[in-house]
Amino acid sequence: MPKFVYDFSEGNKDLKDLLGGKGANLAEMTNLGLPVPPGFTITTEACRHYLAQGTVPEGLDEEVSQHLAKLEARMGKRLGDPDDPLLVSVRSGAKYSMPGMMETVLNIGLNDRSVLGLAKQSGNERFAWDSYRRLIQMFGKTVLGIEGELFEAELERLKNGRQDTDLSAEELRGLVDTYKGIVREHTGREFPSDPREQLDLAIKAVFDSWNTPRAKLYRRQERIPDDLGTAVNVVTMVFGNLGEDSGTGVAFTRDPGTGRKGVYGDYLPNAQGEDVVAGIRNTIPLQELERLDPKSYRELLDIMARLESHYRDLCDIEFTIERGKLWMLQTRVGKRTAAAAFRIATQLVDEGLIDMDEAVKRVSGAQLAQLMFPRFAEDAAHRPITKGMNASPGAAVGKAVFSSERAVELAEKGEAVILVRRETNPDDLGGMIAARGILTSRGGKTSHAAVVARGMGKTCVCGAEELDVDVVNRRFTAPGGVVVNEGDVISIDGTTGAVYLGEVPVVPSPVVEYFEGKPVDDELVAAVDRIMRHADSVRRLKVRANADTPEDAARARRFGAEGIGLCRTEHMFLGERRKLVEDLILAATPEERQAALDALEPLQTKDFVGIFTAMDGLPVTIRLIDPPLHEFLPDLTELAVKVATAGEAASERDRKLLEAVKRLHEQNPMLGLRGVRLGLVIPGLFAMQVRAIATAAKQVPNAKAEIMIPLVSTVQELEIVREEAQRILAEAGVDAMIGTMIEVPRAALTAGQIAEAAEFFSFGTNDLTQMTWGFSRDDCESSFFGKYFDLGVFGVSPFESIDRSGVGRLMRIATEEGRRTRPDLKLGICGEHGGDPASVHFCHELGLDYVSCSPFRIPIARLEAGRAAV
Ligand code: ADP
Ligand code: MG
Ligand code: MG
Repeated sequence: MPKFVYDFSEGNKDLKDLLGGKGANLAEMTNLGLPVPPGFTITTEACRHYLAQGTVPEGLDEEVSQHLAKLEARMGKRLGDPDDPLLVSVRSGAKYSMPGMMETVLNIGLNDRSVLGLAKQSGNERFAWDSYRRLIQMFGKTVLGIEGELFEAELERLKNGRQDTDLSAEELRGLVDTYKGIVREHTGREFPSDPREQLDLAIKAVFDSWNTPRAKLYRRQERIPDDLGTAVNVVTMVFGNLGEDSGTGVAFTRDPGTGRKGVYGDYLPNAQGEDVVAGIRNTIPLQELERLDPKSYRELLDIMARLESHYRDLCDIEFTIERGKLWMLQTRVGKRTAAAAFRIATQLVDEGLIDMDEAVKRVSGAQLAQLMFPRFAEDAAHRPITKGMNASPGAAVGKAVFSSERAVELAEKGEAVILVRRETNPDDLGGMIAARGILTSRGGKTSHAAVVARGMGKTCVCGAEELDVDVVNRRFTAPGGVVVNEGDVISIDGTTGAVYLGEVPVVPSPVVEYFEGKPVDDELVAAVDRIMRHADSVRRLKVRANADTPEDAARARRFGAEGIGLCRTEHMFLGERRKLVEDLILAATPEERQAALDALEPLQTKDFVGIFTAMDGLPVTIRLIDPPLHEFLPDLTELAVKVATAGEAASERDRKLLEAVKRLHEQNPMLGLRGVRLGLVIPGLFAMQVRAIATAAKQVPNAKAEIMIPLVSTVQELEIVREEAQRILAEAGVDAMIGTMIEVPRAALTAGQIAEAAEFFSFGTNDLTQMTWGFSRDDCESSFFGKYFDLGVFGVSPFESIDRSGVGRLMRIATEEGRRTRPDLKLGICGEHGGDPASVHFCHELGLDYVSCSPFRIPIARLEAGRAAV
């Protein structure tokens, strides 16, 4: 039988899979000799068993009893003892941090009798009753499933405008009675007074909290797998609510917004647990603890320094001071903004804690993408109406909304919204995802809004205390009598904390300017530059661009592209050239067709000259025409109406066009006449394109063309096209590689044969995904993917990130069999996936030669290719 319970002294930080992040790190701190209240962790394995079977695994109860007995012996107190009770917290803690998403219950072990023992032992009756009411409140909400608002409302009524610390023991005792009444009324039973029953129920409730809707939503957003389960930590209670010499706080070992070193945290005297993040009272900056309790303050700074050098990274911590004694309740490698991630990584290199390989691993393509967002112009015309804390950077503009529901509703209509709340809680998650930015009037940089927004990379200004947010009437007021109603546009700057009325114009980010090759003197840019250089020096994958115009090609080169992996030629047939394509389709005789092709050829040649020139000797993969022909023709219905209304007056051309459109109409164009099939059916079309490539290549001396045939399913198709292409190239005296896209499953499965006729493969993963799943991308994504996410069919769209086990398997087959036929076969990818971080890693594993993506994704692909290689 597996072991389901680990004492803190038995674990360590590398056991996150089993003990969850919180449990693993509590164990690590315990073993470092830091002051951690004793306790034990129930494994994620027990949770998975419980979630699958509905019952706790056999042996768990017994193991909990043994560990509890040991804990009691060590503390010299028994759980819930009437005279001197041991109290514990029961805390969730999954492998990946899910801030505030799951449940924790404090003060387990209190009942009508042990509350008196606690009062006597502590000599503080107020504290005992405060702890008891907290237990019933948390237990009622979390374990018994009673609406939390019901308890909140009673507390608010009792406070009647006072602080919670102003409540007397007598009043709190009354509140306990009221709370017990709520429990009775809503569950039909008494609040459970047996401490062990409290413990067991709380453990199950924590297990169950893995599957609350908000936890599921959070996991989907953060791409955390749904089947990990949570560990449960049972921790001896320490009390920050014992009076003014006690308190609780959270801190970071350095600034998670900028990476700068310094004292960075919030502290709340005479408070317990969640009070700090929930924004019950306003916290004080951690620096002030130096005045209140210099001994604990120094010890805390000392511990933070130790943690940082031990974890070799920024850590965040939770601590509590009980009558002048410091206790560590949590630590983990802390979430940080994208800018801070780059800065901290290079700072740690300079401090000798990590090397450059590690620094590259410490940042991500997603973070780099965030740094490439535009920001607000510094512009005198816009003066902030107020300033809050710069909790999560970025520039967001949108309509103010005051509830999560409204945010979701408007966002679904395509509107940009800013979610404005006094403070957020986990129920606001849907709205936070839907909004462009989040603005709160309360809470510090460690508040729920701030932590979650940073995790999501969403702009957030928090604790804008001058704002009076009136959620009921859906408006807020700012100093100077400014009133903002729902629907009014505001702009918030998460980098400075400024809040503006109306829309403030945005400017490009300095990181983009740097990639553009402009000199930028900026600390962040310097960090990005160092990390990018190192990523480039270690990566094995080359990075190319998908670019169809000389302008895109030039930008791609500035961004570091090492060639063009996909130059689509169909874009070159649009606009004013459309008429020439229509002529081609309408051609009734070979002469007419040739005339149309002859007219198109010089135009194509010019396009290619432009691109070859821009790429200056780097390889350019040109895909011959791909999409279904009807995409170049007028819409059937519109044209039919036009011809019908014109009657006799309809032009000859329109009539012929209508006929052609009807003739070419397909039920399922994506599986119809397109790609290589077009080239085989319309004589001269591919030949014209190849001639244009050859002519252009001769005009640009260092041009390096690679001709790519799309939508091939069988080697025969490819051979026919290749023979003709080779003949044309030979006549022109031009050397160019000829290869194919692998985007039809059959092509992947017969790659060994296809490689006989192809010098390179480029995986067209958009079509390959579409055809492997049988999903029409244009239809399915918007129609039922939402439902599929809800049902957990997949966690991320296969169009966004390569489906390794299906599409990826085909790619692996094609890679292996293609290389078996032709060892020097060149392999690349040119679908949207080429710029997706997880897919870049997969391409690295497959051993492809390059990935190709849109110009703006190039730095991201370079970085991720580097990360895959270290
Ligand atoms: P979360 O994962 O949401 O942060 P935690 O399990 O960390 O939840 O607990 C919620 C709050 O209760 C935190 O502020 C934590 O420090 C506090 N807390 C948890 N256990 C104890 C304990 N044994 N003694 C005192 N405070 C505790
Ligand atoms: Mg915590
Ligand atoms: Mg395709």
